[in-house]
Amino acid sequence: VRALIIVLGDQLDADASAFDGFDPATDQVWMAEVREESTHVWSSRIRIALFLSAMRHFANQLASLGRPLDYVTLDDAANTGSLAGELARALQRHQPQQVVMTAPGDWRVLQSLREATRQAGLTLEVRDDRHFFCTVREFAAFANERKGLRMETFYRMMRKQHRVLMNGDEPAGDRWNFDAENQQPFGPEGPGFLPERVGFAPDAITQEVIAMVAREFPEHPGSLEAFDWPVTREQALHALERFIEERLCDFGQWQDALWPDTPWLWHAHLSAALNLKLIGPKEVVSQAEQAWRDGRAPLASVEGFVRQVLGWREYVRGVYWTRMPALAQANALDAQQPLPPFYWTGDTEMRCLADALKHTLQLGYAHHIQRLMITGLYALLLGVRPTEVHEWYLSVYVDAVEWVEMPNTLSMSQFADGGAITSKPYVASGKYIERMSSGKYCADCAYRPDQRVGPRACPYTTLYWDFLIRHRARFARHPRLGAQVRNLDRLSNEEVSAITSQAEALKQGGDVKPVFIEDVRH
Ligand code: FAD
Ligand code: SF4
Repeated sequence: VRALIIVLGDQLDADASAFDGFDPATDQVWMAEVREESTHVWSSRIRIALFLSAMRHFANQLASLGRPLDYVTLDDAANTGSLAGELARALQRHQPQQVVMTAPGDWRVLQSLREATRQAGLTLEVRDDRHFFCTVREFAAFANERKGLRMETFYRMMRKQHRVLMNGDEPAGDRWNFDAENQQPFGPEGPGFLPERVGFAPDAITQEVIAMVAREFPEHPGSLEAFDWPVTREQALHALERFIEERLCDFGQWQDALWPDTPWLWHAHLSAALNLKLIGPKEVVSQAEQAWRDGRAPLASVEGFVRQVLGWREYVRGVYWTRMPALAQANALDAQQPLPPFYWTGDTEMRCLADALKHTLQLGYAHHIQRLMITGLYALLLGVRPTEVHEWYLSVYVDAVEWVEMPNTLSMSQFADGGAITSKPYVASGKYIERMSSGKYCADCAYRPDQRVGPRACPYTTLYWDFLIRHRARFARHPRLGAQVRNLDRLSNEEVSAITSQAEALKQGGDVKPVFIEDVRH
């Protein structure tokens, strides 16, 4: 074999750079399903099923393209269980002159594949991943030129460089940012009509994978019953088309809104397909822009969406690759609590948190504000060790891959890097959740978002004040958080110690079971 082409489970594109110059007469593709990728964190069964099913569908596509493929299945008796172990065996089998791959998304994987190749006396040729607008080198240059990293600066640079939503040198609509129109709560009537989410019934390949995952990973979290994620490029393109036609028009307005028992809302549900490379961000952004140019979606909404894909998604990737491996250990707030066990069951009295956890465990999905301002916020306020929070996020979501999950969790949600990419920690009390769900979550909850202490106090609210008390010195002069910290001056010493001891009880025992008194609304 001249070249062995490595294809990982999140590199499922036949046009990827690893295939440049591929010659079926002399070259060989190698793919392997390995247990370690599902156990190095306790991966949800939905996530495992998605990756394996998409890999098997891609293997069929390679076969139809006539590309020779060596594919090792998870239940192959000789499977060593690790990518490095399987690559070492493949190098023995094929004795290639070269080993080539598109840059992987995961720092740990790159190190282990490099080492396995080195041990075989070869070097690994790592090619740029064309699925992104910005290369890691370009991002590093951007970061080096500036003291503080800010997403907004990066995003504007990307818009100009790639000519997205631009009129000449000016942003379309003469504004870069439509947050004032976007990010509204629904109001008491709720979301009303919602377009039906597109799902894909498992075909024979997916059914076989689901049965194997149920057999091989019986103790892992997550339900396999509702599995209907896109696993091929055709399905992902169909999901993209439906999003552009049916949801994009209202995406921006409702992108931060919360409503109980309503996981999908106007979100795209495209992150898993994007992260597996079934579709690319360039086609997603260009279709969204075209919808605005054709008058099918308002500019504010399209800008809100483009900001996520061209802005945040590219930005966190750059942050990951320029900050690893130190980022993985960051713990600027010295958070040392364990993750509450109910993160794995959803068994909590907190209505909003139970709902987000239930969606997560049943669907492998929760939308951004549930991740940031419900599950993430609770862990931040409680002071959970960032590595445990990171491992939970990496386990439970279908779109979880480390380059995007880790900076979102450690930097954005847990402030573990001390503000290197966000200007302040995203802290809020239960009143934020009340506002963004138009009161709906809290109306059905045993707690009260405006109470700091007492049997009905909302744990978010107690912990919010406790967070400010604990980190008073650090944030007192902070330009954006300082005003929140100064509100502590209004509290008496008795109130401060009551908050501290109630927060301590939450740290010891999950949520305090509320005492039901006469006006609890259920
Ligand atoms: P939409 O809300 O419809 O957004 C459209 C697209 O924009 C998404 O598909 C995604 O590709 C991109 N996007 C939006 N927000 C972000 C963001 N903050 N960072 C990067 N891309 C973004 N996203 C992942 O893809 N994988 C993860 O493992 C992941 N972990 C997260 C962990 C935490 C703590 C937080 C706060 C966010 C995380 N996100 C992650 C970002 C975001 O929540 C998801 O991309 C989004 O919820 C996926 O659903 P959607 O496709 O319906 O997105
Ligand atoms: Fe969530 Fe607190 Fe509202 Fe209950 S009262 S739903 S815990 S914010």
